[in-house]
Amino acid sequence: MRFPVVLKTTEKIVETAKLYYLVASNGIFQVRNTPTHRSVTRAERDIPDLLSETPRVDLLFPVLPASLLDGVIAFFNEVYWCHRGEAIVVLFFNPKTQEYRAEVPPQIISGYYDSRGRWYTDYHLDYGRVERPDGFIRFGTIHSHACMPAYSSHVDCEDEKFEDGLHVVFGSFASAELTRSASFVSNGQRFHVNADDVLETWVVSECPVPNAWMEQVECVEEPAWQQGDKSVENERLESTWSDSGKALRVVTAEVAEDDGH
Ligand SMILES: [Zn+2]
Repeated sequence: MRFPVVLKTTEKIVETAKLYYLVASNGIFQVRNTPTHRSVTRAERDIPDLLSETPRVDLLFPVLPASLLDGVIAFFNEVYWCHRGEAIVVLFFNPKTQEYRAEVPPQIISGYYDSRGRWYTDYHLDYGRVERPDGFIRFGTIHSHACMPAYSSHVDCEDEKFEDGLHVVFGSFASAELTRSASFVSNGQRFHVNADDVLETWVVSECPVPNAWMEQVECVEEPAWQQGDKSVENERLESTWSDSGKALRVVTAEVAEDDGH
């Protein structure tokens, strides 16, 4: 037997069954009419006679081309070695021409100087708006995690809850190999995707970084009261202050999703 499914709208419901399901703005309910009571309860168990469904996303867009990734990674590398900080670009997609474009929004890296006058950042980035190019839709973001590995941090998950689209992270800029991870957000729900499915394989090459991109990056010293005791953190980060940087890096490892950060 199939139970009726009724939409809850301003229209009056004529009850034709003793038991039916009601789809309301805040969920699905079961309405039960018996000789002793009439109840409206949340339908938390399976609905009989219907098939189950699983949240999923099928990606229909082309991979991000190596030519775009080269420029973006060179920018992240430059920001890391100049400022020891994270950086972000906003991705746009033109559905007609299937082209991508990366735009750099104004962004602020906050940090502090240690007792020897060396600059450290807090792996926190504030960024502003960027113009959407004509014919393009906003498609997502690519950001870097400086010397930390690439994964979708708790902060990323919170930020991206409000932005549907593709979100790619590159990390480990102080290591021999970059790490990367990717996820796609639809209707506020995050799906981890295999980075190889969305990024074209590319050979990392020295790529000039436009001055206009670097000029969007500003470093701001935190007020002293926010800084607290950073001695442990400084010790941990000291290794990143070697001069070994700026060598070309090969991207291989993918770091598993970890929401615990
Ligand atoms: Zn992040």
